[in-house]
Amino acid sequence: MSTSVKEILSGKSTQILSVAPETSVYEALDLMARADISAVLVLEGDRMVGIFTERDYARKVALRGRNSKDTRIRDVMTQNLLTISPTQDVDDVMAIMTENRFRHLPVVERGQLIGIVTIGDAVKAVMEEQRQTIAQLSSYISGEIAT
Ligand code: AMP
Repeated sequence: MSTSVKEILSGKSTQILSVAPETSVYEALDLMARADISAVLVLEGDRMVGIFTERDYARKVALRGRNSKDTRIRDVMTQNLLTISPTQDVDDVMAIMTENRFRHLPVVERGQLIGIVTIGDAVKAVMEEQRQTIAQLSSYISGEIAT
């Protein structure tokens, strides 16, 4: 059976790194570098209003010659967020990311943000599924040969 989003989250730190829309791009990048992550969610109070990733920096700041200390996150974040529910599974995560060409999905349960899954988390979960399938098939085959 496919790994659920809830299971993926259970193997991760519960910390969700976020910034306010008024934060400067420089401060957000500094936070991302220190935490060694590639995206931050943008929260206004409790409300999720966007996401800012390294791609947004590359395309909307660096390529346009904007200064990261003078640019606010609200001006360069992506506003229309796609999210996923903890009851969905890793195949759904892969399908949404592939169709939409992004690598981050906030996890929302009953309207509340409970985590974020990345393409790295999804690849790790699929590799573990495959490892288990191979182990089961190997023991099945060796069992067959033995009898
Ligand atoms: P990424 O591949 O995650 O770095 O993101 C590529 C682009 O998609 C960037 O412009 C992001 O802001 C945007 N993006 C990333 N994740 C999401 C998401 N869950 N919903 C909507 N846009 C997103």
